Amino acid sequence: MSDNKQILILPGDGIGPEVVPAAVALMHAAALLEDIRIDTVEGLVGGIAIDQTGSPLPAETLAAAKAADAVLLGAVGGTKWEDRPMNARPEKGLLGLRSGLELFANLRPALLFGPLAKASSLKSELVADLDILIVRELTGGIYFGEPRGVEIRDNERVGFNTYIYSEHEIERIARVAFELAQKRSGQLCSVDKANVLEVTQLWRDVVNETAVDYPDVELRHMYVDNAAMQLVRAPKQFDVVVTGNMFGDILSDVAAMLTGSLGMLPSASLAASGKGLYEPVHGSAPDIAGQDKANPLATILSVAMMFRYSLNMPLAADRIEAAVNTVLAAGIRTADIMPQDRAGQTLVGTIEMGERVLACLKQAAGESR
Ligand code: NAD
Repeated sequence: MSDNKQILILPGDGIGPEVVPAAVALMHAAALLEDIRIDTVEGLVGGIAIDQTGSPLPAETLAAAKAADAVLLGAVGGTKWEDRPMNARPEKGLLGLRSGLELFANLRPALLFGPLAKASSLKSELVADLDILIVRELTGGIYFGEPRGVEIRDNERVGFNTYIYSEHEIERIARVAFELAQKRSGQLCSVDKANVLEVTQLWRDVVNETAVDYPDVELRHMYVDNAAMQLVRAPKQFDVVVTGNMFGDILSDVAAMLTGSLGMLPSASLAASGKGLYEPVHGSAPDIAGQDKANPLATILSVAMMFRYSLNMPLAADRIEAAVNTVLAAGIRTADIMPQDRAGQTLVGTIEMGERVLACLKQAAGESR
């Protein structure tokens, strides 16, 4: 054994505590195949943290997150806490983790496993084996710019926000995207609205200046309105896409939906140190919580991202993704990814889906020895 890794596990609320155990089992199994032991600590965040400590992000949780190599989170929120004031809701725990860990880069892959191509709203041939990575700036731009507010001017209400980026914020997210492009196909598309917004003209200039350090990456620029069109017209033209906070929020949801189901979508949020918060894109799904119906694959695929981006263990990531693909190719489906024509498919619950992926991972590793 060598080099133990420390991971903080935050199951959270709703289906979080159902989908996280399957992902944790995969994490230990994939690490052991490389003789790495993972030490896990479990913590509280979200509604369960409010119930047990009064705070959606207890100080011990933030301290444990800072001490860990990475954090795996299930989901937060639920109807029980919806009447609380905005700054005391479960979601505040997640926002507190993002700012406390300085997670400025949000990675949202839109990966469509071949066996699920029919689940997309687009024609199968347009999306089969789609593999886009959207890199969204997460801590700046119009969502955080000051001044902001609603006030009375000339006897009417006026609302305003500030779209602001400084050079260093653009450069650091651009570098994350260029480095990811280097590890993938060497293509990067930067999305802006440089024809209208000065702040995104600066975005384009700084991305161009940064490109000089990455001569092996082919960079192109696209206006955001065109990017939205192209994503649904011919999505496979994209590999890595980098953009600001607001455009990234919208485009990553568009790209994600090309893949068919919320239950399949992982995400990562990274700090400059490489530390990351890994979580499924979906929420706590109170409508199916406690019924063994939730799809654990988004959380399992989030663990694959953790291996790739925070733990520098790409083989473990590849093995988990391959095991997921094998299970899907065998027609194993949770309810959310079950096609209307069920022929040849087997419906399973959360626990069995996790067990099947784990079995495939172990079997494939055994065969390759
Ligand atoms: P949701 O993502 O929880 O659910 C939307 C729909 O997708 C539901 O019908 C749900 O059953 C289904 N779904 C979601 N994940 C699934 C999975 N893994 N397998 C199968 N089906 C799945 O979104 P919502 O209903 O808008 O929000 C519910 C709660 O979650 C709210 O309190 C919201 O604030 C919170 N939320 C949390 C996060 C997060 O923790 N990152 C993200 C979004 C929403």
